[in-house]
Amino acid sequence: MQSVLQTYFGYFKFRSHQKEVIEKILDGKDCLVVMATGSGKSLFYQIPPLVTRKTAIVISPLLSLMQDQVMSLKQRGINAEYLGSTQTDKTVHSHAESGTYDVLYMTPEKACSLTSRFWANLLNMGICLFAVDEAHCISEWGHDFRKEYKQLNMLRGILSDVPFVALTATATEKVRNDIICSLNMNETFTAVGSFDRQNLFYGVKSFNRSLSFVDDLVQEVSKYINSAGSMIIYCTTVKDTEQIYESLQNAGIKAGIYHGQMGSSNREKIHRSFIKDELQILVATIAFGMGIDKPNVRCIIHYGCPRSLESYYQESGRCGRDGLPSVCWLYYSRSDFTKADYYCAEAHSESQRKAIMESLRAAEKYCFLATCRRKFLLQYFGETSNGDCGNCDNCTHAKKQRDLSRECFLLLSCIRSCGGRWGINMPIDILRGSRAKKIVGNNFDNLPLHGLGKDYSSTWWKALAAQLIANGYLKENLVDVYRTVSISPVGLQFLSSANTFHHRPLVLALTSEMADEEEHGNQKNKLGDHQNPAVLACEGLSEAESKLFLMLLDIR
Ligand code: ADP
Ligand code: MG
Repeated sequence: MQSVLQTYFGYFKFRSHQKEVIEKILDGKDCLVVMATGSGKSLFYQIPPLVTRKTAIVISPLLSLMQDQVMSLKQRGINAEYLGSTQTDKTVHSHAESGTYDVLYMTPEKACSLTSRFWANLLNMGICLFAVDEAHCISEWGHDFRKEYKQLNMLRGILSDVPFVALTATATEKVRNDIICSLNMNETFTAVGSFDRQNLFYGVKSFNRSLSFVDDLVQEVSKYINSAGSMIIYCTTVKDTEQIYESLQNAGIKAGIYHGQMGSSNREKIHRSFIKDELQILVATIAFGMGIDKPNVRCIIHYGCPRSLESYYQESGRCGRDGLPSVCWLYYSRSDFTKADYYCAEAHSESQRKAIMESLRAAEKYCFLATCRRKFLLQYFGETSNGDCGNCDNCTHAKKQRDLSRECFLLLSCIRSCGGRWGINMPIDILRGSRAKKIVGNNFDNLPLHGLGKDYSSTWWKALAAQLIANGYLKENLVDVYRTVSISPVGLQFLSSANTFHHRPLVLALTSEMADEEEHGNQKNKLGDHQNPAVLACEGLSEAESKLFLMLLDIR
């Protein structure tokens, strides 16, 4: 093993888990490997064939990925090939059958369509392992379910004595079990590496989709491309990629675009120039990236929240593979979280629909977080972390906290006054003094609260609302796709104690958006520890108005 590592790959030391897992495979054991992107999972199936001189079968979801790997193995003097729809060399099939190759890649479709005769012949020559790369694709609970992967279990019967090796970078407990069951793996040896990518900084910002924001974004990214290395901007739609690409070009930045609606030769070309550092920024949909091994990507921006944390972790994980400090920013807008129905349209079953909803909910939670983001991510993937990381926006913002009683009081009262059937925008617009039709039409401009919250932007208020939801003062209810907010019992308790002199300050952490806004100084933080939020909320109202206000709120 050691000499294979040195002669073929030029590495002197195995990384963590590598030796252990390869030994299990050589012992004939089934293995499940869950290790971060870039940790070196390919060696698990590339070394055993060179030790045993038997063929390793590797299932991979993408032809381009297989071609890349075959090319780089060939350069190392390893006999590798692939079978799939783009394979033009007719001799590969018969060579494969007679055991010529060390590593033989194939798509799942191909693997399932090969005859039992093919397998019998190859088995005769010797198969040292059957690897399923990107194995999360097998699970409906994974973020990239592919039905062709589901059929792979039919090969278990044919290859009953061959060790199965499933590899993935992201798998929650549920997905891991699903992989093991789906492939009928036996007494599986499971190796789970750390998900922690310490060199990556994680941050989140909110935005509203608009052309002026795209310009701001272009300004922002210019900061990163001055340093060596490149950057990927992931968009959720093709339209977004086009818009951003255009602005980048207008700004004179060397950018490329990549999405599923482009022809494959075009995509190939862009891919190559990105790898060769001819492009500074690649604007792409998630069609770009599986298995990308480019070491010097310095920054990944998500323009729009991805549909799951698994995909976020995987996509953001494509930066900093060389171990140098790199940055991941996620920009979300609230509409990203109302796409559940759209995503669910492709669900094959009720359980998959539920999985899609749950994934989106987790991604939303991540966006609204006011605590350490890395800790949250690690916990999500079942790893405990020791304390806060100090390398995410929430940690570096030193989690400013302050007494937000007055603001919470205003928001909760306002939600109460407009009666539980609205989303969060209505009470915020009321507080900000909007005279939009929906406000005037409902007579909400006559509420004493109207305009009392105009010191803060609506982004600030939304961040506070998210905080109140996270802390259990507010409840979000899903009515079809529409979300309404209502006050929880804890919130009601806060409201009724707020008017007494004994009220306890409600100290909350400021999210980065809130802190940013407050740093720029457009807030009136007048609340001392012992002041009464209800009284403060009435500030600026005449005596009669305040009375009416408190009466309307039914606070005694
Ligand atoms: P993964 O599939 O887990 O994302 P890869 O197998 O593509 O990762 O490996 C990522 C990089 O790490 C590759 O450039 C690979 O050559 C390198 N690598 C793997 N194992 C070692 C090792 N033991 N020592 C040094 N580099 C390694
Ligand atoms: Mg890989």
